[in-house]
Amino acid sequence: MTAGEVMRAIQGRLIVSCQATEGEVFHDPQLMARFAAAAVAGGAAAIRANGPADIRAIRGVTRVPLIGIQKVRHNDGLPLITPSFESAKALVEAGADMVALDCTVRGKGSGALERIREIRERLKVPVLADIAEIAEAIAAAEAGADFVLSTLRGYTEETKYVQDFDPNFIRDLVSATSVPVIAEGRISSPDQARQAVAAGALAVVVGTAITRPSDIARTLAAAIESEYSRRNKVSHAIGIDLGGTQTKYGVVRSDGTLLFKSTVETPAQSGARAMLDNLKRVAESATRHAKDTGYNPVAMGVATAGWVDALNGRVVYATGNLPGWTGARIGEELSAISGLPVAVENDANALAVGEKHFGAAKSFEDFVCLTLGTGLGGGCYVAGALNGGAHSIANQVGHIPIMPDGLPCSCGVQGCLEPYVNASALIRYAGNSYTSAAQVIEAANSGEETARAAVQTLARHLARGCATVVALLDPQALIFGGGLIQNNPLLISVLNDEMAKLVRPWESRGLRVMASELGYYGGVVGAAALAFERAFDLNHSRQSCAQTTMRTPD
Ligand SMILES: [Zn+2]
Repeated sequence: MTAGEVMRAIQGRLIVSCQATEGEVFHDPQLMARFAAAAVAGGAAAIRANGPADIRAIRGVTRVPLIGIQKVRHNDGLPLITPSFESAKALVEAGADMVALDCTVRGKGSGALERIREIRERLKVPVLADIAEIAEAIAAAEAGADFVLSTLRGYTEETKYVQDFDPNFIRDLVSATSVPVIAEGRISSPDQARQAVAAGALAVVVGTAITRPSDIARTLAAAIESEYSRRNKVSHAIGIDLGGTQTKYGVVRSDGTLLFKSTVETPAQSGARAMLDNLKRVAESATRHAKDTGYNPVAMGVATAGWVDALNGRVVYATGNLPGWTGARIGEELSAISGLPVAVENDANALAVGEKHFGAAKSFEDFVCLTLGTGLGGGCYVAGALNGGAHSIANQVGHIPIMPDGLPCSCGVQGCLEPYVNASALIRYAGNSYTSAAQVIEAANSGEETARAAVQTLARHLARGCATVVALLDPQALIFGGGLIQNNPLLISVLNDEMAKLVRPWESRGLRVMASELGYYGGVVGAAALAFERAFDLNHSRQSCAQTTMRTPD
């Protein structure tokens, strides 16, 4: 076949990778041929297969184009795809219409780029380059490759951090390379396949999701088992809420009951090391307490201020409220000492998860949680799912700009909402005659006029920020948590009145403005809710991570 013929045969179509490695149940050329026949019957336009024996058997049952590869254990102990001209020749002799080979940095080390030309000239078949990075694709296309495939993304030393299919990579690949791009690698759903095509892929290769029944069964089994145990068994998790002033922690039962709770000062101004040591001490104390009372925690959750990379359990960015906290590897450090899966989230996101599972938001699909204390955080659900935004930093309600040339904010910008509604703002509004926000709130509750006026001033500013949020998201409810909400019904009441003036049409929306039902330890319960949620997901994705690192790409 010529490259043009291949192109016409596969464009806009599914290619199925039919492979089974030694030791797998289906490791048998005749069984691979049956998989291929089933795939073709289902609409596959081409088959990718490993080794002459499988290729020959598959050729016996179908006429669709075959992409041949030969995985050979390289001298570094890892498999390399079609690392010699002879292996390519054997594939073509067995019936492959074209050959794919590893053109990553590692492949190049074994002469892949020279081999592209040799295969095309001597075997007269199109060559497909399996790559992991853009530069490798460009080099392979320049060396004569007819197509590039994203097959090895996530499987090389340089890209091993990639764990999921990313359509943006396909988009970048398409715009950077001169030859057609075929999407391959970790595509397991129609939605991902659609995204690949939308990103410009000529065709899409799917392997494991079709030809590895054990993996399919494992995914479903894990989902069923974890959900069943979540619903039917009582388990326990440790929740830690790291605030700018205090670190609260406790042991939470899977129905949301807080069984043990405690608070220590956060060494917020002492740098990352002191903060991590504080977290470790707290984690140890909670674990010890849980075990002493006969509970066996299944996971740990940490809620922290700042921008959090939840997948890796790290703080991506923290404002001046927690100096030095940027880059903190919370997940790794706590997981190492506790042996538990550790979920880390932004504190307002954690509160939102807690409210959804155990608090005021059980029946809501669209709601916003706001944590009001040293800073102002936001976490929200949109259409029943936690909203992260493109970079997991959405809902930064505290950093909505409300005042040109206004007060300096902890984020470095002037005029954000936060410095007008945080704890120090409340003390300031009360004429600095109180030393803590809690004192101002207490005085307001007992009718002291300056303190009441301070709460009202804060509420008016807060209402403006909240009106922006409502205009943008149209939530069913705004749920307030954090230190400034505790014991502060006046704030919620003024907030309601002020927002009624700013939000149109207020009457017909039925928007609820309420205090968190989870109370002072809401962040702890939220962190534990997250731990429960992620513990099951974590167990699952840990399995598949272990699986993918052991497995070679299709
Ligand atoms: Zn700001």
